[in-house]
Formats: sequence, C-alpha cells, structure tokens
Amino acid sequence: MNPRLSALRISLLYLVLAALWMLLGDHWLHMAFSEPAQTLRWMTTKKFVFLGVSALLLFLLLHQQFRRQQATLSALSDREERLNRALNVVEDGVWDWDLRTHRVYYSQGYANLIGLPSERLSDDFLLWENRLHPEDRSATLAAYQEHIDGLSERLDCVYRILHSHGGYRWIHSRGRVERGADGEALRMTGISRDITRQRSNEDHLRQAAAVFEATQEGLLVTDSRGIIVHINPSFSRITGYQAEDVLGAQPSILKSGRQGAAFYRRMWESLLRDDVWSGEIWNRRKSGEVYPQWQHIRAVRNEQGELTHYVAVFSDLSSLKRSQHELDFLAHHDPLTGLPNRLLLRERIEQALARAEREQGGGALLSIDLDHFKHINDSLGHSTGDLLIKAVAERLQTCLDERCTLARLGGDEFAVILESPRQQHASSLAQRLLEAMDPPFEVNGQTIYMSVSLGVSLFPEDARNVDHLMQHADAALFQAKASGRSLYAFYTPELTARARSHVQVEAALRHALDHNELRIYFQPVHDLLSGRMIGVESLVRWQHPQRGLVSPSEFIPVAEECGLITALDAWMLDQACRQMRAWLDTGIALDYIAVNVSSRLFGRGGLEQRVALALEQSGLEPHHLELEITESAVMQNFDQALELLCQLRLLGVHLAIDDFGTGYSSLMRLKRMPVHKLKIDQGFIAGLPDEAEDAAIACAVIALGQSMGLRVVAEGIERPDQAAFLLTHACDFGQGYWYGKPQPAEALLAKLPRNPG
Ligand code: C2E
Ligand code: MG
Ligand code: MG
Repeated sequence: MNPRLSALRISLLYLVLAALWMLLGDHWLHMAFSEPAQTLRWMTTKKFVFLGVSALLLFLLLHQQFRRQQATLSALSDREERLNRALNVVEDGVWDWDLRTHRVYYSQGYANLIGLPSERLSDDFLLWENRLHPEDRSATLAAYQEHIDGLSERLDCVYRILHSHGGYRWIHSRGRVERGADGEALRMTGISRDITRQRSNEDHLRQAAAVFEATQEGLLVTDSRGIIVHINPSFSRITGYQAEDVLGAQPSILKSGRQGAAFYRRMWESLLRDDVWSGEIWNRRKSGEVYPQWQHIRAVRNEQGELTHYVAVFSDLSSLKRSQHELDFLAHHDPLTGLPNRLLLRERIEQALARAEREQGGGALLSIDLDHFKHINDSLGHSTGDLLIKAVAERLQTCLDERCTLARLGGDEFAVILESPRQQHASSLAQRLLEAMDPPFEVNGQTIYMSVSLGVSLFPEDARNVDHLMQHADAALFQAKASGRSLYAFYTPELTARARSHVQVEAALRHALDHNELRIYFQPVHDLLSGRMIGVESLVRWQHPQRGLVSPSEFIPVAEECGLITALDAWMLDQACRQMRAWLDTGIALDYIAVNVSSRLFGRGGLEQRVALALEQSGLEPHHLELEITESAVMQNFDQALELLCQLRLLGVHLAIDDFGTGYSSLMRLKRMPVHKLKIDQGFIAGLPDEAEDAAIACAVIALGQSMGLRVVAEGIERPDQAAFLLTHACDFGQGYWYGKPQPAEALLAKLPRNPG
C-alpha cells in the first residue's frame, strides 16, 4: 500500500469526522438545550471531547509509528552487526570503492591482509595503490581500469602488495562495478585474498614436477596398496617400460629373481618401521636384461599420518659397475700386453710373502729386462718396439706354470713372481726364460734377435717385504747386465751396497752437471818419429767439492747407466771444439783434438747432429776433430755402428777406435770400418818392451793398422824405452805420461806447438 495515499485517506476521514462532529454537534446541542448558557457549557465540553479524541488518535498513530520505526532500526542494526561479524571472520578483505569520490571502504579483513591495525585504516584509495609492487603496479591498475571501462566482465587479477611487516604478499582480487542507468561506473565492490602460501605451494609443485620429469633417476610412485600410479621419463629409459605398461601394475613386475624372499622381507620390515629403505637391488628390464640399481624408497603420509603413497627413486648402477670394473682392470694391468702391472704385481708379491710366512714356504722374484731394447725402439720405431714387447711377453708366458705370475712393469721391464721354496726352481726358471729368447722374433716382417737379463731375489731369504724384494731383484739384474747381459744373477748383500753407491754417485753427478763441477783436461799426443805434439785427447774430470778431482772411470759407468752420459759428452764435445778453435786462432799448431764418445751415446742415435752442432757453434773445421769410439761399442751392434760411422765420416771428422785389442774385433768387420786410427789399449803397452806377449800384440796391431791404411796410436807410454820400441815397430803416434799427463788448458798452454812466426 502506498504510504502517502493511506496517510491522505486517514487525514480526510479525520477531516470529515471532525467537520461532522463540529457541525452536527453544534446543531444537536442547539436542539437539545434551549438555554444558551447550558448550550455554551456543552459546546465547551464538546470541544474538549474533540481535543481529547484527536489527541488520543494522534497518540495511537505516533505510538504505532514509533514502534515500527524502532523495530526496523533494531532489525537493521542486528543485520549490520551480523554482516560485520561475518566480514571480520572471513580472512578475505572486502572493499567498496566509490568511483566518484575515490573513497574506499576496507573491511577489517582487508586491514589484516596488509597487516594494518584497524585504527590506521583510512578510506583513502592510495592506501591500496601505494602498496602495489612496482613490477605489478601498471598491469594491476590497467586491469582495474579495463573493468571500469567495461572492457572486462569482472575484475580478476593477481598482484603483490606490501605488507606492513615487510615483504610482499600475493593477493588475488575479484570485484565488479556497479553502474548507473546511463552506464556510468559508480562503485566497485570486491574481495581480496592472500594467496601467498598457495602461490609458493604452486611454485614448489611446479619445481617438483620439473624435477620429477627431468631427473636422471628413475621415479616410481605407488599408492598405499603398492599399485603404480606414476612414473617419470627416466623410469622408462632405465627399465624400458612405458607408462601404459606399468600404471596399475605392481612394482614386482620389475623383479629379477636374483634376490630372494628374505631380501624383500628385510626391505619391507625397514620400510614399515622407518618409512624409508635404501639399497642395491637387482631388477629386470623389459628387454629381459638383469641390472643393478641403487634404490631409495620412502613412504608418504598425509596430515593425519595415514600412509598414502610410496615413492621410489633409483639410479642404474650397471654402467657404473662396468666402468668400475674396467677402471679396476686398467689400474691393475698393462694396456699393451694385458699383463698385471706393477701395482698388481705388488699385491701378488704381498700375498705370496704372506702365504710363504703362513705355510713356511718361499719363492723368488725375477726381474727381467730386455737387452738393448732401446736400439730396437730407436731404429725400428716404437710400433715395432711395442709389437716386440708383446711377442716377448707371450714367449715369456710359455715358460711359466701355475706357480708363476708374469707382470710388465713398464718399458722393457718385466717381472715374474714364483712361488716355490726351492732355489733350484728359480734358477731353472731363469735359465728357461733366457733360452726362450734364443729363437729370433719375426715382427713386422723383420727378424729380430732379442735377449734378456734377469735378476733373482729369493724370499724369505733375501727379503721379507715387497720393497726390499723388488730392490734386491733389481740389484741382481744390474749385476747380470754388468756381467755381460743375456745372463741371470742372484742377489747378494754386496750387490745392494754397490747399487746404493751407484745411486749416490748418480745423484751427485746430476748435481755436478747442474753446478759446473766438470772440467776438461787435455793429454798430448806426439808423433813418435819427430817427437812433435800433433794433437790432444780431451778427458773429463769431476771437480768434487769434497773429494777433489774424481777420475772418469768412477763416474762414466754410472753416467752411462742413468743416461747422464748424453749431457756429459755433449758438454765435452762443445768444450773441446771451442778450445781447439781458440788455440788455432792464437796460432797453436795442432792437427786435431780428440773427444771420447760413450758407447751408450753411440748406440742411441742423434750423435751425428750433435757433432755437427758443436762444430757449427764453435766454428771448428771438421778435420780438426777426432772422435774416439771404443772397440766394444762398435762391435756390439756392428751394422748400426757402421752406418753411423759412415755418416760421421761424411761430416768430415776423423774417427779412431779406442782401446783396440780388448774388444774381439773381427778382421772382416774391421776392414769395413771407415776409421782413420787405431789406439792400442794401454794394457798392451805396459809390458813393453820386455813382455813377449804384449810386444807381439802391439806389433800385430801396428801391422794390422798399417795394412789397412790406418794410423796407429799407442796409449799409456810411461817410459822412453816403450816409445823407442814402438817407433822401431813403425807405430805412428804415442800418448802417455811420458809425454804429458792429462792437464787443464792453462797448464798445457806453454807446451803447445806454435806456428812459426
Ligand atoms: P781412454 O779414452 O782410453 O783414455 C785414456 C786413459 O788413460 C785416461 O784415463 C788417461 O788419463 C789414461 N792414461 C793416459 N796416459 C797414461 C799413462 O801413461 N799411464 C796410465 N796408467 N794411464 C794413462 P782417464 O782420463 O781416467 O779416462 C778413463 C777413460 O774414461 C777413458 O779411457 C775414456 O774411455 C773415458 N773417458 C774419459 N773422458 C771421457 C769423456 O769425456 N767421455 C766419455 N764418454 N768417456 C770418457
Ligand atoms: Mg780415449
Ligand atoms: Mg783408451
């Protein structure tokens, strides 16, 4: 009902009744009372009755109205209170933005959202805008504006907002604009929710999913009943099973059967007790291949602690195991021959020593070294050298039985460990090994003769630990080599002492080379007929800081053994060439300077280049240089020596064979050698002229030399009668203390012949 109309109706009714009351009342009173005074009195009464009724009516109306109003107000306030309570309870923030005034109503929830106490909550739009994350600001404001402009149906956006306690919170806001009749946006109302935790959970989930997909480990998830519910790509790669093969199945389809029921029982016990299990497990791929994997299983429980899933992570161990095995093999074997290497040999020796001690047994270590293997390598190349090493290894192996282990220690060194208490076994094995080398090797179409030297050390007699045993076998080997190669030698204590001093000399000699402790001495060579000094031989000396001048016979063998001879001879060659050049330049009239060349250096190659370099650097003409090569060096490897001598001769230098008479030269070979001189070994001169044998040899050598067109030098002449004897027998030149001892250049200078004028 229209309230205005009702009010009008009531008012009109009142007006009509009041008018009737006034008109009819007055009329009725005039008729009822004849006395005017009485009529007047009743008319007054009638007025008060009218007033009273009107007041009563007014009261009733107002009373009713006020009661209604009261009821409405209280209902309203009840409702508002309920609404506020509801808004405060929800964690979401509610806001209502008046777009015309830019005043905003923020609920208490909203204040909580940004960490503001309610007393600081204002209705300013900037309260919100100023807190937007700089990176999100423009996009967020644009989303709001879009919706205000009617471009989007509703506001729905996510952004970060500054929290009063510091840091930003992720907020999800949704809202809608209220528009006037003309479509104008009047207000926007909405709610905002803090989704920071949800966001980080989502981030974690995304990361976890990426890890799940990308990890190299296989992953498998089952539900609490053990039904496979999820796998990752690596699972398929490792097992060969695709998702459709395994989802819904049980992990037991992967079982290889290699581990028994007890294994799985223990695994489940641990899983049920601790919720985790890790270990190596053998599974079967789809292809049927059985392989090892390292597996980690964890039970997953929900917030109530109920088991929901099992997650298994595993990595394929097969390639690791394979490479471990390969590495292990490589670490213990020589790649060329496949034989045990030094490391494995040591292990085997250790075991043999322990067994010998336990069982009162014994055995031997045989150190084997190929004789002159370097020559093969240098002359035929390393690939031939390698093939020869393999062939030798095979040949050695044929001599061994189950009591023996053959190892290659590197280069041309081998070793055999023999487990037998009888020394005789060791010597017969050594002999067999030596003889096994007798037939030549056919390598790369070439026939190669190869011999070995052996050193034998016995245990427990000679040594009770690995290092000593190996050292002693090496010392014995050294002894075998020194005694002429293709031999075997047993270890004796004296040998060790010798080996030790050898090592000491070697260290000291290295030091000497580095610290210029070497000196060059010169010994004159005279023409026996004219008595004139025609040349000098250069001889090395070691000016030892404590021991004084050390003779080359003490250190040359060591230098040869350890390879220092190369540097030593190169140094001597340089010094000699420079000295000779200097002498010639100052008018000294010498024909030549002689330099000794080690048999080792001689066999190693590169000598020709070294000589050419020394000549070039000093500016000495080649015919002023004479190289002395011992007879034994030449005869040991005749073909190679011959070639080298020819090359040296082509350089223009002179060549002499030193210590002639001691090296069993064959005349056939001697004839072919492109040398200029023979130097009779001083051993034959010492007995001259009285000892018939020496005299005979000396005479024979002179005659031999002359018959081949060579000049002959006699070494070690200490007395004039020796010189006289040699002259009578037509020896050309002489050298010895009688003419002059080896001495430094300064000491010799005054005696050197000079060009006339
Ligand atoms: P060698 O080449 O036969 O040298 C001759 C040796 O006889 C020298 O000994 C010399 O001092 C010694 N001698 C000379 N005249 C007499 C004498 O009248 N009576 C006696 N008893 N001895 C005499 P040294 O200098 O001790 O050299 C020994 C060997 O060392 C040399 O024999 C040579 O083979 C080697 N040698 C010396 N210097 C060098 C060098 O620079 N390089 C190489 N590779 N070997 C060298
Ligand atoms: Mg000499
Ligand atoms: Mg000599």
